[in-house]
Amino acid sequence: MNVDLTDLYQQLVLEHAKSPRNRGRLEGDDIYRAEGHNPLCGDKVRVDLAVENDRIGRVAFESEGCAISTASASLMTDLISGKTTDEARAVFEAFRSLVTGESRPGDTPESIEMLAGVSRFPMRIKCATLAWHTMLRALDHPNEPAPPRVTTE
Ligand code: ZN
Repeated sequence: MNVDLTDLYQQLVLEHAKSPRNRGRLEGDDIYRAEGHNPLCGDKVRVDLAVENDRIGRVAFESEGCAISTASASLMTDLISGKTTDEARAVFEAFRSLVTGESRPGDTPESIEMLAGVSRFPMRIKCATLAWHTMLRALDHPNEPAPPRVTTE
């Protein structure tokens, strides 16, 4: 199959940026939450996770920033919803290694491979990974009174 990943990538980003999934906040004392900031581009994201028995139920996010950061956050919420925390970490790892060029498309979900089109635009990798780092931070530091903050470096 000869697919132009760049085109698919652009379609995916445009579609999710235009109609983001799972936008908003989750209320409750048991919500895992973190906020992320990408100073290079000015993107901000907040990720809320409802985790029960080590499984991620609902996911919600709020974002302010470029189309890629919003699209990536939207896609992330779709991909990790219903997964165990370990599975969510594995999805993150697959995505991270694709966008940084450490692995090649193959046995990762198709939507992740499309998003990996961002690896052609190194300036935007931090935009694309912000929500994912923020999601991991929320998993690692649940139930803190003030949401931990992640800043991409
Ligand atoms: Zn950005």
